[in-house]
Amino acid sequence: MTVKQNYIDGEWVDSAAAPIVDRNPSDVEDVVGSYAAADAAQTRRAIEAARAAFPAWSRSSIQERADLLDAVGGKILARAQEIGRLLAREEGKTLKEGVGETVRAAHVFKFHAGQALRIAGDLLDSPRKGISVLVQREPVGVIGIITPWNFPIAIPAWKIAPALAYGNCVVFKPASLVPGCAHAIAELLAESGCPRGVFNLVVGSGREVGDVLVGAPEVDAISFTGSVETGRGLAARAVGSMKKIQLEMGGKNPLIVLDDADLDNAVECAIQGAFYSTGQRCTATSRVILTPGIYARFRAALVEKARALVVGDALDEKTQIGPAVDATQLKTDLDYISVGQKEGARLVAGGDRAPAPKNGFYIAPTIFEDVHNQMRIAREEIFGPVASILRAKNYEEALAIANDTPFGLSAGICTTSLKHADHFRRNAQVGLAMINAPTAGVDYHVPFGGVKASSYGPREQGVNAVEFYTRIKTVYTNVSIGG
Ligand code: ADP
Repeated sequence: MTVKQNYIDGEWVDSAAAPIVDRNPSDVEDVVGSYAAADAAQTRRAIEAARAAFPAWSRSSIQERADLLDAVGGKILARAQEIGRLLAREEGKTLKEGVGETVRAAHVFKFHAGQALRIAGDLLDSPRKGISVLVQREPVGVIGIITPWNFPIAIPAWKIAPALAYGNCVVFKPASLVPGCAHAIAELLAESGCPRGVFNLVVGSGREVGDVLVGAPEVDAISFTGSVETGRGLAARAVGSMKKIQLEMGGKNPLIVLDDADLDNAVECAIQGAFYSTGQRCTATSRVILTPGIYARFRAALVEKARALVVGDALDEKTQIGPAVDATQLKTDLDYISVGQKEGARLVAGGDRAPAPKNGFYIAPTIFEDVHNQMRIAREEIFGPVASILRAKNYEEALAIANDTPFGLSAGICTTSLKHADHFRRNAQVGLAMINAPTAGVDYHVPFGGVKASSYGPREQGVNAVEFYTRIKTVYTNVSIGG
């Protein structure tokens, strides 16, 4: 099998290190591909190439940047079935989810193609006579982009596209579990005429490649999505070289279901939020908080639906829930299930590996009840298809439980009470508040991010991406000089 190369300074380059073997989590016998593992020296070369490309790219015409991003978006759309299949094969989400994510990545590129044409500033009068003030936006420089495995094309897209739109150069380090989608993005940028050095791909380990990116003084900013632990360590290091940083990390997202909720919609929100994408989303629902009047009906319907979900090969059209991404994540899920049992929570669905035709990391959608909010399964991010049901006396107690967490990414409420929906909108301590909608599932044209331990730095996506990917210069002009 040929080893796919890294993309540095406009060239595809090999590595002397042992390649990274990308395996299908639905069937470990299936090798998706082999990818050259970049080392520290190659990462430094990529950073130098990005630095060297920056002066010209930062002054390139906005039309050139818009055209590049639009072309990449168009090519992703044209190849959405093929790339979506690759995504499902290497990450384990279902084919439908893989294609959906790919289409979304295309939309992200197209959205930011438009944004390249709308880089605006502000012109102000000065309190001083004869002076005008211009507040303008400029590119930041070289951006290190470090991404996780759970959205192998959408997360890279929503970082790479705005970085390039606003005139920055990029060194991209994807998670080692999903080099295939990263390679596809690099290929499409290369074949769309991205000038050399403007975009570089370095597949490799966080400890080696990631660490060089975070430590290098020539990198001006790091955009990271991943775990809280890695994010915190990385941020402390990045600040040492005065980098701009943006971190998207975990969640422990609650869904409150009140007595007056539409039952079918509420159950569907919980099923989608907790189990789709195998629960491997930072916006996944992991705590379902119920008030007494709906408890029994909701619990019965949720358990029935969860048990009926079809777990299987991500590429099988009938599959609703694909496997965990790898053996480590599967072990984490199973370990948390035994932690929950030891803590006194009661298993009402799943709780073990799911029977499946192939040798993959299948796990049954799992539900605990009698969960107290101080239990580890209610406080720590599991990142698997495991949901906990908690009881609350009323809306006020449900909201207090929802907010009692170190995280603050997404929270949902299912209710037909305008009063409670409005109170929740104002008082949920999160970056994403969902009303009669799942905690997961967001749009690309509006900001994404959380509060507390979930996020740090400016919001990602939509118009707000301009805040991270540009810096501000304030220009004073004495307009009274000259004729
Ligand atoms: P996940 O479980 O979502 O992969 P991680 O935080 O472990 O979360 O990894 C997220 C990304 O950060 C990956 O691309 C990983 O390789 C990278 N990474 C891990 N450790 C480091 C590190 N010390 N420095 C820089 N990047 C790292």
